[in-house]
Amino acid sequence: MVRTGRRPVGRAVLAACLVVGALVACTGTPPDVDRARRGAADAGDPYVPGRGNGGYDVAAYRLRVRYDPADDRLTGHATITATATAGLSRFNLDLSGLTVGAVRVDGAKAGHAREGEELVVTPARGLARGARFTVDVEYAGVPQPVESSTLGLGGFLATADGAVALGQPDSASTWYPVNDHPSDKATYDVEVTVPDGLAALGNGVPVGRTSAGGWTTWRWAERSPMASYLSTLVIGDYRVTTGTHQGKPMVTAVAASLPADGPAAASLARTGEVVDFLADRFGPYPFESYGGIALAEGRISYALETQSRPVYGPGFFRSGRPDTGVVAHELAHQWFGDSVSLARWSDIWLNEGFATYAEWLWLEHDGGRTVEQTVAARYAATDWSQPSVDPGRANMFGDAVYQRGALAVHALRRTLGDDVFFRVLRAWTTERRGGNATTADFVALAERVSGRRLGALLDAWLVGGTAPALP
Ligand SMILES: [Zn+2]
Repeated sequence: MVRTGRRPVGRAVLAACLVVGALVACTGTPPDVDRARRGAADAGDPYVPGRGNGGYDVAAYRLRVRYDPADDRLTGHATITATATAGLSRFNLDLSGLTVGAVRVDGAKAGHAREGEELVVTPARGLARGARFTVDVEYAGVPQPVESSTLGLGGFLATADGAVALGQPDSASTWYPVNDHPSDKATYDVEVTVPDGLAALGNGVPVGRTSAGGWTTWRWAERSPMASYLSTLVIGDYRVTTGTHQGKPMVTAVAASLPADGPAAASLARTGEVVDFLADRFGPYPFESYGGIALAEGRISYALETQSRPVYGPGFFRSGRPDTGVVAHELAHQWFGDSVSLARWSDIWLNEGFATYAEWLWLEHDGGRTVEQTVAARYAATDWSQPSVDPGRANMFGDAVYQRGALAVHALRRTLGDDVFFRVLRAWTTERRGGNATTADFVALAERVSGRRLGALLDAWLVGGTAPALP
């Protein structure tokens, strides 16, 4: 993610977190419903209290949603395939607002209740640990945006011609029931039905479009595991360009109200070139499709690395000139953050430090400032009292995460030399592809691949209180 302009200030959205006690380990099957074991109501991540849930692991979301911009009403049917990781009598999904009609578990009617931004599901029969199950949720309503104290406006936002849904660290629960934490990645099949003439863009590979009775259904499939905050939905009047790149679908969309030959269109048009530059350094592109979406909606003051198809707010292109730095940043996240995802938000420098460094590499390659010039400027401006790792929720999008994080990446490169450094990065993106990882995992991998002890170096650059000497 990259923000434009000013730091947004808004009300903190801390979900009404109803802590119901730690998850009790399963003691055997069949589950003893009288023991009333509940899946935890959040993922235990203090950066996103209330978000995520315990007791199960989602494999796949199938979402069928219809949205009518005339009245902002969304109707949805989510089919979630998951595996119980504990014996469960009840479990939670995250869902903000909206009205739930019916819930079924494995086809049988299930009880459901709302507790703040939680949907509590009580299956007719308890679920045994290890059981694979499906949850069907029918829901409807007028979805609402969320204003995060850290990022700005996100969630589901009605626009002049449609809607956009995106946001970090959470946004998905504003338009579908979800285990809303990056530690539970899943595949997605999404069908979006909108009035004829509007585009409905999502993540992944386009898998067809049909029209009937004045409505058009757009279908998208993301078959690589995806963190929920990387899912997006963009509905409206867009110029959609569909092609192929390196044998895979490339779908870019630019808001029709933006000029066809303007800076946003020109920047997105370089997506394939930027991806190839990054793939030469980080290893093969990890997904089955490419693309990007340029919004005209001025309330979105950032760009976000939504999987395989980043979304760019209009602020990056207001100068009238293309901005491929932000394109490089969001595309670098496809490796760092999207394919190799965080296990917890306190390690967000693993996303932003590498994406920021990739931006510096691209700018140098594209004839802009050299990496050494950028490093010198950023090093001089760094507040070394602010740590990159565990920066605190309020600072998760701060300079210590982005700029100091990127300086740490550069220090690692200078210490190891280019050959070993890029070997470490390629090992990271290969070995951890599609999964989750922590800072400790990165340090361990870097030490193994390089054969060097790197803990002290990375400690100094990531969390030490004084400026380390540049290697
Ligand atoms: Zn970023």
